[in-house]
Amino acid sequence: MARNRITVVLSQAQGKHPAKRALEESVVAALLMEPGVEVSVVPYLYDLGPDHTGRMFLESVRGDMVLLSWLFPRAAFWILDRDGIKGHWGESQLKSPHADAEDDEAKVPEPPKGIGALDVPNRHIYALDMRDFNNHEVYVEEVRRIAAECRERNEKKQKATTPAVPASLVQLGLVTHDEPPAPTRLFEPEQMLQAPAGRRWYPVIDYSRCTNCMECIDFCLFGVYGVNGEERILVENQDNCKKGCPACSRVCPEQAIIFPDYKTAAIAGAPIGAIANLKIDLSKLFGGSEKDAVSQAVLERDRELVAVGRDAVGTAVGLAKRQSHHGAKPKDDLDSLIDALDSLDI
Ligand code: SF4
Ligand code: SF4
Repeated sequence: MARNRITVVLSQAQGKHPAKRALEESVVAALLMEPGVEVSVVPYLYDLGPDHTGRMFLESVRGDMVLLSWLFPRAAFWILDRDGIKGHWGESQLKSPHADAEDDEAKVPEPPKGIGALDVPNRHIYALDMRDFNNHEVYVEEVRRIAAECRERNEKKQKATTPAVPASLVQLGLVTHDEPPAPTRLFEPEQMLQAPAGRRWYPVIDYSRCTNCMECIDFCLFGVYGVNGEERILVENQDNCKKGCPACSRVCPEQAIIFPDYKTAAIAGAPIGAIANLKIDLSKLFGGSEKDAVSQAVLERDRELVAVGRDAVGTAVGLAKRQSHHGAKPKDDLDSLIDALDSLDI
């Protein structure tokens, strides 16, 4: 028999918002009663450093996992990947109430064009956005569905890899079908791993979209990006990133750079289909903007350079690839929209 338990981790909201805490508590209370579910609580995922017990707990989970957080699922999934907590993308069937009918058309799966994650183990990670519903039962029901889906998948996997054993040997007691031992855990389930975590700010790369073009490493003058031994882009010195500045996300041609805490959905990791619709609706509302995304990024980068006593560089540094490949024309309406939203400070 395959192991019939699934790990659910609830990542709390930042701060102490009473309504958010109440929803978190109802979800956890209901899941504690669910058979086959191990539930734990950690602070806000994006803020967890490598020494935090919540992060160590996440690293200790070996099987399928459901993560409930106050983040876009794409952001949550790639934060985990960045922290070495990897798995295949688990598709939730919860449809965000903020998506409209047009989203369904926009969600026609794009063929993956990114370089993908490295060393992905054979398990699935499902990310659910706690901002989507106020009702805890919606999440509990989806966890039940996911648990059944994982059980079925694991049973199929096990059948495919277990050699057929003649029934006679089983009857003679020479072969048993015992459940395999559960993976060793550093932590017991159903626990709160809640030492406060300080706020952090750094870019997260969505490798399903990243094409390794290196525009971000050329653009960032603060040494945040680097490459690994295989010349793959990575966020090497995340704490060098300048708090509140999302400049490089605007120059990434694939919308692969996420700042999960940024105020506009497009940069915070909204589903790409949802971004497309946001573009259509809100560009009409704002009537577009004169500034293009690259100009905005250059302004933001110069502001940070000056703040640390360096000279502003304008467009003279780190944009050679973009200028030769894309020209200096405005990127698209989406970027204009983001600029318009930024200027409104909403
Ligand atoms: S700019 Fe975007 S696509 Fe290019 S390497 Fe950086 S993250 Fe990847
Ligand atoms: S936001 Fe600015 S400092 Fe941070 S990684 Fe991007 S370009 Fe570098």
